[in-house]
Amino acid sequence: MVKTQEKPLFYGHKILLLIALEFVLAFSGLGYFIPYGSATIMYIPVIAAAYFYGIRAGVLLGAVFGITSIWKASMAGVGYFDSLFSPFSSGNIAGSIYVALIARILFGFAAGVLFALFKNIKINEYIKVTVLSVAAHLIHTFLVLIPMEYLFPKAHIDEKYIAGNIFSVNEILQVILLTVSMCVTVYISKNKRLAEIEQILDEGRQSYYTKRLKIEGAFFVLFLFLVILALMFHLHDMTLMVVNATNIELPFHARIMFINLQIQFLVGVAAIAHIIGVFVTSYRIYSVYHINNADKDSMTGLYSKTTAVDYGATVINNKKDFPDTYFMIIDIDNFKGINDTYGHLMGDKVIINIARFLEKHFGAYGLVSRFGGDEFAVFITRSLSINDIEKKIQEFQSDAASISLDDERKVTCSIGVCHVDNEKKFDEVYRKADEMLYLIKTSGRNGYKFYKKV
Ligand code: GH3
Ligand code: MG
Repeated sequence: MVKTQEKPLFYGHKILLLIALEFVLAFSGLGYFIPYGSATIMYIPVIAAAYFYGIRAGVLLGAVFGITSIWKASMAGVGYFDSLFSPFSSGNIAGSIYVALIARILFGFAAGVLFALFKNIKINEYIKVTVLSVAAHLIHTFLVLIPMEYLFPKAHIDEKYIAGNIFSVNEILQVILLTVSMCVTVYISKNKRLAEIEQILDEGRQSYYTKRLKIEGAFFVLFLFLVILALMFHLHDMTLMVVNATNIELPFHARIMFINLQIQFLVGVAAIAHIIGVFVTSYRIYSVYHINNADKDSMTGLYSKTTAVDYGATVINNKKDFPDTYFMIIDIDNFKGINDTYGHLMGDKVIINIARFLEKHFGAYGLVSRFGGDEFAVFITRSLSINDIEKKIQEFQSDAASISLDDERKVTCSIGVCHVDNEKKFDEVYRKADEMLYLIKTSGRNGYKFYKKV
């Protein structure tokens, strides 16, 4: 599905990610494979940009493709065909600027127009993407190769050459890579979970992309960049050392080319640092969003039952991260009586204080929630020994007993505890802890019981 462009082009780093990917392809050699002559897959991000973000994005990525193409073609030692893409070495400045840059911008534009034209045609999305991507790729080939016959007659690029080129093994490989990567990208973009995460990031970026997070992110990327810069300087020095030691005299222009190569390397590194930075920052925004938006119970400020049940599922499904977890249900004894005798407001006060004490004793060791009414649930995930837990339960109970009810009557709680073992569902864990709670309730209340000691 072609997304509409209600958001600015640079919204959410996505275009910058594609540009960074284009730089990495350009300067890592990943963008080129040379089985039967020089061939490139650098048009794939251009087509992807045009598909997902429209004509402007296609044009922008086409321009990046063009600029890096000129840059690389201008290196000493490139093949004759490649050198035609450099206005500095082809002998036809305008011609090179056309084939390297203008043709690529036109290609990005054409890809954007193609996807926009067929946006509302109702056929299978993968078939549509495959056909249109191949069409865009052919447009690229024609835009570059057909004018070459006139711009660079010496290159002998005529109809026969172009026809041969289109049906070459090289070309077929490129088309397979293009269509497979486009279809995979489209498949991933349809993932519901990913769409949810994206929505959270969109919201999170507006609310939680704080100045501090931005500065931290910038420092992280800068740090990464500097470390790699240091590696690069070291490599440079060591290379020169080897060259000197073997008595090779590098001419001036060779040194300039080495520096040129290093700058290419640096651009690639900056692009990778950017990609990593975006992922790290996104992850942080996502985490902050979750922490701030987890459902909380408004009266006590504890996590709600929904959050606790979700958390229970997380604990069960990620045993490696939660190897030693206890689940505990706490229910206030004869709470109806407290309400009836001292009034509802006093009842509320008791609930709020019980919440406060649970948080005080267990908050630092896991997740404390109000399950509803006078029932609370606690996950203890930072490994505590049974003795530690018992001690904390006793401390909690003595705090509970200190809640003032204006006479001799004390607030007590019944508690059922269960170690999370090999249960498949949180329900099973809950049931075990609840059984223990029931045993305490039926044997006089005010106590705790573990499902089984481990
Ligand atoms: P048991 O010892 O068996 O748990 O007896 P109990 O009286 O505590 O029984 P139960 O746990 O079933 O009672 C819960 C009562 O809590 C019922 C309901 O009226 C009351 N309640 C639920 N939510 C609130 C609340 O937010 N504030 C107040 N004041 N009371 C509440
Ligand atoms: Mg109760």
